[in-house]
Amino acid sequence: MKLRYDDDVERFRGQFQEWLDENQPTPEEMESAPVRSSAHRPPWARRWAKRMFDDGWLVPGWPPELGGRNADPVETLVYLEELDNRGIPRTTNPQGLGIVAPSLIDHGSEDQIECYAMPLLRGDLTACLGMSEPDAGSDLASLKTRAVFDGDSIVLNGQKVWTSGAHDADFCFMFCRTDPDVPKHQGISIVLVPMDAGGVTVRPLMEIVHPRFPDLNEVFLDDVTVSAENLVGALNNGWRMANDSLAHERSLVWLMSVFGNEVALKRLLELAPELLGDLGPLERAGAIDDFVGLHVDVLAARCMGYRGFARYVRGGTAPEQALMKVYTSEVRQRLALVAAELAGPAGLRPVSGRDTEVGTQEDFFSTFAGTISAGSSEIQRNIIADRVLGLPRS
Ligand SMILES: Cc1cc2nc3c(=O)[nH]c(=O)nc-3n(C[C@H](O)[C@H](O)[C@H](O)COP(=O)(O)OP(=O)(O)OC[C@H]3O[C@@H](n4cnc5c(N)ncnc54)[C@H](O)[C@@H]3O)c2cc1C
Repeated sequence: MKLRYDDDVERFRGQFQEWLDENQPTPEEMESAPVRSSAHRPPWARRWAKRMFDDGWLVPGWPPELGGRNADPVETLVYLEELDNRGIPRTTNPQGLGIVAPSLIDHGSEDQIECYAMPLLRGDLTACLGMSEPDAGSDLASLKTRAVFDGDSIVLNGQKVWTSGAHDADFCFMFCRTDPDVPKHQGISIVLVPMDAGGVTVRPLMEIVHPRFPDLNEVFLDDVTVSAENLVGALNNGWRMANDSLAHERSLVWLMSVFGNEVALKRLLELAPELLGDLGPLERAGAIDDFVGLHVDVLAARCMGYRGFARYVRGGTAPEQALMKVYTSEVRQRLALVAAELAGPAGLRPVSGRDTEVGTQEDFFSTFAGTISAGSSEIQRNIIADRVLGLPRS
C-alpha cells in the first residue's frame, strides 16, 4: 500500500514551497538573534510573522482577512509538514498564535480583536497564558487568582506559575476566579492583563534545559487594575472558553508532534555512523535494535495520526488526540534517551538559543516538557480510560 496526497494537495504544497524559497528566514538571520523565550520576537521573527500574515500563510485554514487562504485541513497538514521539514518555526509565540488569538477571535469583543488578536497575528504583540497556579495545574478549575469588579475596573490579586514567556510577553490571557461562591467550574473568567500594568511582578524560574534562556516564570498580581473592557467573553464563562482554548492547542499538538518526531528520527539516523562508530558488536546490535524500534514507533504514530485526522476532517471527535499526545511525547522522550546515551560526554556540548539538537543533554531534558505541558501523560491516560475505553471513572 502506498499512501500519498491527492494531486491538488501536492500542488498546494508546491505553491507553499515556492513561497518559502523566496520568503523564509535565512539560517543567518535566525542565528543572529536567537529566540530566547516563547513570547520573544526578535526583528527577523516579527518580519516573518508579518510576511506570513500578509501573504495568507500564517493560518492557512482561516480567511484572508485573518492571515489565511481558506485552505482545507489536508492542505493545512502538508503546510505544517513542509515547515517542519525545513526546520522553520511557524511562530515564535506558540501560545499567542495557537491559543490566545483563536480564543479572542471566537469570544472577544470587536475592540479586543482589533487591539489584541490582530496585532498578535501580525507579529506586533506577543502573549502569554496565565492558567496554572501553585495549587491548580492538572486540576485547573481550582485556581484562586481573584478578579473583582470595581466600577469600570477589574482588580486582580493572586499568583500564576509556569507562565511561558511572561518576561517577554506584552499581555497575559489570565484565568481568574470571579465568583468564589458557586461550584468551582462555574466561577472562572478570562481577563487580558498588560504585562507592564502596575502590580505585575514576573520572576523567572531557572531551568535545567536552557539555563541561559529560561522560559518559565512565576507571575505575581498585587492589586493589578485593568479596564472592565478587558474581560473576555461572558462573565464566569471561562471554563468553557478554557476547554475551547486547549482544543485549539491540542488540534495542533497532535498533528505537529508526528512531524517533529520524524524530523528528530531523521537527524538521529544521520548521526548514526558517528554514534555507532566505536561500539563493540553487542552494543552495536542493541543500538540498532533501538533504532528499528523507534522507526516502527514513529511510523505507527503517523498511521494513528492519519486515522484520527480522517475522523477529524469528517467532523467527528478524534479520541486519537489523547492517544497521540501520550504516544508521540513518550516516543520523542525515548528517542532523546537513545541518542543521549550513545552520544555520551559529547552530548554535553552547549547549543545556541533555545534550539535543541538530537544527542545533546538539552534535547534529552527538553523532551520531559512534552509529557507534562498541555495535559500530562497521566491525565491523558485518565481521559483515554474514561472516554475511549469507557472504563468506570475512578
Ligand atoms: C514546558 C512547560 C510549559 C508550560 N507553560 C505553561 C503556560 O504557559 N501557562 C500555564 O498556565 N501553564 C503552563 N505550564 C503548566 C502545565 O500546564 C502544568 O504543569 C500541567 O498542567 C500540570 O500541572 P502541575 O505542574 O501543577 O502538576 P500537578 O497537577 O500537580 O500534577 C503532579 C503530578 O501528578 C499527576 N496527577 C495529577 N492529577 C492526577 C490525576 N487525577 N490522576 C493521575 N495523576 C495525576 C500529574 O500527571 C503529575 O505527574 C507549562 C508546563 C510545562 C512543563
